[in-house]
Amino acid sequence: MGCLFCEIVVGARPAHRVFEDAACVAFLDVRPVFLGHVLLLPRAHHETLIDLPGDLLVPLFTTAQRLARAVETALLADGTFVAINNKVSQSVPHLHVHVVPRKKKDGLRGFFWPRQTYASEEDAAKVASLIRDAARS
Ligand code: AMP
Repeated sequence: MGCLFCEIVVGARPAHRVFEDAACVAFLDVRPVFLGHVLLLPRAHHETLIDLPGDLLVPLFTTAQRLARAVETALLADGTFVAINNKVSQSVPHLHVHVVPRKKKDGLRGFFWPRQTYASEEDAAKVASLIRDAARS
């Protein structure tokens, strides 16, 4: 088959499954950022968010919302970090949503999100304009 997460989806590889329905499967990440870190994926093999067919968007993100709530409730977390790596930093090329439980002062902030600044308002306007144009097409 060749895809690690497809193998988990069909049960050919073990995983601690936490939710599944007709469209999606979710299980514990084997190397969690924090305990309870869940991965949610579409059953069908699509590599990135950009590849996901429109009819799977609502099922996938409805379940992401459900899992964000479940992780928070089950683990008495203060919140969650919900993220998708697309190509860069994506180690498994089968789209997956990370749902990571967060606690205040859990130390993740600076480590995960080193921030930059725009050199000027003009630079920010240029970047915004590039994205605005691309988003239109
Ligand atoms: P990413 O780097 O965004 O592609 O995330 C891939 C995630 O898959 C990583 O957080 C890994 O720890 C996790 N992972 C890799 N292999 C397995 C596995 N067999 N079962 C559960 N999680 C896995």
